Amino acid sequence: MDSTHIFVTGGVVSSLGKGIIAASIGKLLQARGYQVTIQKFDPYINIDPGTLNPYEHGECYVTDDGMETDLDLGHYERFTGIRTTRHNSVTTGRIYKAVIDRERRGDYLGKTIQVVPHITDEIKRRMLRNASSADFVITEVGGTIGDIESAPFMEAIRQLRQELGSRAVCVHLTYVPYLKAAGELKTKPTQHSVKELQGMGIQPDILVLRTEHHLDDALRSKVASFCNVELECVVQSEDMPSIYEVPVSMQRQGLDAAILRKAGIPVGETPAMQPWRDFLAKQRSATATLAIGLVGKYDLQDAYKSIRESLSLAGTYCGVRVQPCFVNSEELTPENVGERLAGMAGVIVCPGFGPRGVAGKVLAAEWCRTHDVPAFGICLGMQMMVVEFARNVLGYAGADSSEMNPATPHPVIDLMAEQMGVTQKGGTMRLGAYECELAEGSRVSEAYGGASLVSERHRHRYEFNNAYRAAFEAAGMKCVGINPASDLVEVVEVAGLRWYVGTQFHPEYGSTVLRPHPLFMSFVRASAGS
Ligand code: GLN
Repeated sequence: MDSTHIFVTGGVVSSLGKGIIAASIGKLLQARGYQVTIQKFDPYINIDPGTLNPYEHGECYVTDDGMETDLDLGHYERFTGIRTTRHNSVTTGRIYKAVIDRERRGDYLGKTIQVVPHITDEIKRRMLRNASSADFVITEVGGTIGDIESAPFMEAIRQLRQELGSRAVCVHLTYVPYLKAAGELKTKPTQHSVKELQGMGIQPDILVLRTEHHLDDALRSKVASFCNVELECVVQSEDMPSIYEVPVSMQRQGLDAAILRKAGIPVGETPAMQPWRDFLAKQRSATATLAIGLVGKYDLQDAYKSIRESLSLAGTYCGVRVQPCFVNSEELTPENVGERLAGMAGVIVCPGFGPRGVAGKVLAAEWCRTHDVPAFGICLGMQMMVVEFARNVLGYAGADSSEMNPATPHPVIDLMAEQMGVTQKGGTMRLGAYECELAEGSRVSEAYGGASLVSERHRHRYEFNNAYRAAFEAAGMKCVGINPASDLVEVVEVAGLRWYVGTQFHPEYGSTVLRPHPLFMSFVRASAGS
């Protein structure tokens, strides 16, 4: 069958959860046996979010093939288990760069390059590019209808609808606010948002109304009639205790069935989604809470999104409700570290860049090591575990990462050789999946079920300095994960403690709802004392 394209747009305000709706649609269609792919088109001009501060854009998610992408790709992968690639993430910057490179090469000789058709053609080409192996291509467009930046994407969607006919389905997500003083839910913003879309030549097929209160049939009918959408195609996305409840709620309201009908595909039986429902049942029944400290410098939910989700998923499978507690590493001092980490069953020392807040990460690592609190250092977190061990166990005064102190007498973490000539900041780190050989009998190998070779994703420029390896190993910090091609240290652990592991890679990018990550499982289990 030729692919059907589902476009997901948003109106009224941002942060409505378009990514969750796109991922839920993907999950529901997969459950019906279809091959699905999901992609995100972001209207900003950066080539990728790799150079953005998490305060601007939340976490930067990394694909297997080393693309730094929007965090929505993390939702796509966690919901559907699909491995995305660099083709699943596109920005205005990438579109323009491709067109401008072509212009310089002379591909358009004699022609004036314009937004329509050149930019819109490039958007369309990329929207269609992932179709070959998929029955459904879900395309989420970032931003909100009416933004100046998103106009070329809307024009591309308008043209594709024209070209693809029923093989293009438009899902528009809006917000229905509740006015407390009036005691009423208001549909006007939705009506305006749909008018705006219609003004761009796009009639939405399906409306998803985001709301904090249940919407009754009368209200849905009103929206349907004002917006020219069938009543069964108006569904609501109420606040849920967990984002993983959303696919089931959407299925109950027939969102996937509505999409199939619009695409002219027989609807068939409603799939049971049993594994997913089993997961939800486990999640609902887990009542005991487990406080896990997240030691980092970004006090923002989205900054460590994949770590939080990985903890929550692993917690569900371990029968506990993980309570991630942000601990600002910039505020940690030798005097208060014990008090700030008191009550934490385990601690994650978070990834990051630059010297701000690293002293606190070193203190947290020391506290956990000397008080036998389960600790998991990820990327910069692992590097700070190494620095702490060098200073306090090996007695290397002033030991550091050369990222933080280029003049350190003991650069136990040092710039990778391949990074030395790098001058551009964007897209030049060691990115994506690399292999890691695990030492037999190590805690991590055991966590991975006895595996000797795994593959995990990376995002870093600095590495463990192998000149110090023997000294670390002799003192008890073992290098138990090594990249076979480059000999780069991927995992360190201190044996004899309950759980003290640092990984240069980012296991948090590898968790999915139906397959929680083994390292997070092992860490949560150790933290829960089971
Ligand atoms: N800043 C460190 C490096 O570049 C760690 C990066 C990270 O935590 N993602 O190696």
